[in-house]
Amino acid sequence: MTMSDWSKVERPIPMPTPLTQHFWDGAKAGKIIFQHCQACDNWQHPPSPVCTNCIGVDLKFEEAAQTGTIYSFTVGFHGGDRRFAAAIPYASIVVEMDGSKVLMAGNLLDVPYTEAHVGRRVKVVFEPLTDDITLPQFKLAD
Ligand SMILES: [Zn+2]
Repeated sequence: MTMSDWSKVERPIPMPTPLTQHFWDGAKAGKIIFQHCQACDNWQHPPSPVCTNCIGVDLKFEEAAQTGTIYSFTVGFHGGDRRFAAAIPYASIVVEMDGSKVLMAGNLLDVPYTEAHVGRRVKVVFEPLTDDITLPQFKLAD
């Protein structure tokens, strides 16, 4: 089973907004930053002007765990976006992050796509895309 070759993929570059800037600044510094509701303890991502649980507005950006468990995944077999053609087939995973329980999406790197299974443990790795944008991705945890 061959591994996806991400080295030939020209990834779309995320465009931070005032709300998402904290997340991208954190990723550049090697941290995962999510929004944390101070009223009800809900963690959420992507960030929102209000808590998605209690509609409160006392939200802070706080560092969260960089490990989690695969919650769901899909395998890309088709190159609808030709920029991703070199990586086909590849696993896109949704990870339930430890502690925060936030669901965060990314690609599973450095293993064949067949290694993506619900329940597997993964950890974040940081992939610099530009001087400003670093993309959090995932590898299998040790
Ligand atoms: Zn809340």
